[in-house]
Amino acid sequence: TKEAGKDFIRDIVEGDLQSGKHKTIVTRFPPEPNGYLHIGHAKSICLNFGLAEEFGGRCNLRFDDTNPAKEAQEYIDSIERDVRWLGFDWGTNLHHASDYFDQLYAWAEHLIVNGKAYVDDQTADDMRAARGTLTEAGRNSPFRDRSVEENLELFRAMRDGKFKPGDRVLRAKIDMSSGNINLRDPTLYRIVDAAHPRTGTKWKIYPSYDFAHGQSDAIEGVTHSICTLEFEDHRPLYDWFLANLPVPAHPHQYEFARLNLTYTLLSKRILNTLVRDGVVSGWDDPRMPTLAALRRKGVPPQALREFVRRIGVAKANSVVDYAMLDFSIREYLNTASLRRMAVLRPLKVVIENYPEGASEELEAVNHPDDPAAGTRKIRFSREIYVEREDFMENPPKNFYRLAPGKEVRLRYAFFVTCREAIKDASGEVVELRCTYDPQTRGGNAPDGRKVKATLHWIDAASAVNAEVRLYDHLFANPAPTAANYEADLNPNSLVTLSDCKLEPALAEASVEKPVQFERLGYFCLDRDSAPGHLVFNRTVGLRDLWAK
Ligand code: ATP
Ligand code: MG
Ligand code: MG
Repeated sequence: TKEAGKDFIRDIVEGDLQSGKHKTIVTRFPPEPNGYLHIGHAKSICLNFGLAEEFGGRCNLRFDDTNPAKEAQEYIDSIERDVRWLGFDWGTNLHHASDYFDQLYAWAEHLIVNGKAYVDDQTADDMRAARGTLTEAGRNSPFRDRSVEENLELFRAMRDGKFKPGDRVLRAKIDMSSGNINLRDPTLYRIVDAAHPRTGTKWKIYPSYDFAHGQSDAIEGVTHSICTLEFEDHRPLYDWFLANLPVPAHPHQYEFARLNLTYTLLSKRILNTLVRDGVVSGWDDPRMPTLAALRRKGVPPQALREFVRRIGVAKANSVVDYAMLDFSIREYLNTASLRRMAVLRPLKVVIENYPEGASEELEAVNHPDDPAAGTRKIRFSREIYVEREDFMENPPKNFYRLAPGKEVRLRYAFFVTCREAIKDASGEVVELRCTYDPQTRGGNAPDGRKVKATLHWIDAASAVNAEVRLYDHLFANPAPTAANYEADLNPNSLVTLSDCKLEPALAEASVEKPVQFERLGYFCLDRDSAPGHLVFNRTVGLRDLWAK
């Protein structure tokens, strides 16, 4: 566990403020709107917005919207919603790379005029082949030595829509033999034939990530441009553009380790594939690692922020155990959730010595650690439901729950003893016959006798029906591979139970309010709920509490 303020990025920022290098810091969170944000993005959001909060600076939300072929308004909207939900506010600092298209275009001509960029007519395949490898230098393009006039004319023709996608690109003229492949004449502009959510069809050419990013940082006065380690090799190019263009400022790029999680693939491209292939029901299917899905599953933003704080910010990549996320979620929900009872796989129990037609109200506490949360009344009568797996006909020695002849406590109610299991024609147990001890009301026997198990239960007559969805990891493999994800899928990632019995108080649950179903876990109402049809998602299970 790291203290906030103790990671290497915060040390750098602190040093830059102390030395007077910067009077105030500016960071940015720069998503490409080509999908929904995932929990990896939460790490970047908490870092960038967190730095601005902690050091009294500012953090821009900047859409890196340079590829209209893959971007959409739906993604822009979802990103804004998810950043807000996580608890951050960019205020008036909303920007788009597309705000700078005119400036970026002018800077591209500036490079051409200075002999530092050229239009290349090679095919994408030829360009790739000529780029070389780590051990083999690249080869110069046959179009590399075009005159400034010809380059300007061709680039303007690209801009004016005279060519088709793939016909030509604009490249920086740097060094085809550089040990850093990113410096081997990288692409600055390509032709894209797609409407842009903001600039419509004005542009036929779009800047590359590398050409847009650092210059956007410079325009916005970003002081610390923080990205993930994959971009470390791009930093020389980031700096080359700043050194070769008349930019208003010289931001600095820093790299940190991306978040990797066990059982999880964190890449919008792969997540997009899962949605498109119908592996999940959508971007907010609760098995997805997107913020929208975590929200829908019932994960509170506070738990995510605490998780991100705990994993810290490091310079070396690693994989975080998903259990750490579950821990943060449970920890928060334990405090934040009211307790309720629900039976997911009901088994009917008839209490033979309880008078027919009678019923009574018992008092149940809403939160064991928070008396202010108060109590509620729950009904008890002759017919109730218990959890099917809380009964065994031939139990092993250490099974303390219901079995013929065994006595248990019903939470907030009475001791009951199982007398008989009724079976249907196929031999399946369909009902238990029990007796109760009226002396044990509230859960204690006056004679001091003990029972080892306390079960949750639901009064049959007043029960509310619901569908409950139990989620597990989408992948069975703790280290799923993107290339062959299908083989790694978990066939049991979703179990839908359609005949669950809930206490009536749960009919008033709301999407925002998490609840604990006693002994089962944390749950929240799903947006698929409709009048008369409640649907609950399991957010996370409890640790094993059977013997409580
Ligand atoms: P993806 O491959 O999922 O699309 P990306 O990096 O291409 O990820 P962007 O929208 O460009 O997605 O990311 C916005 C910011 O979030 C970037 O600064 C990026 O470095 C950061 N980011 C993306 N994934 C992670 C991750 N797993 N952990 C931490 N930061 C991340
Ligand atoms: Mg990106
Ligand atoms: Mg990406």
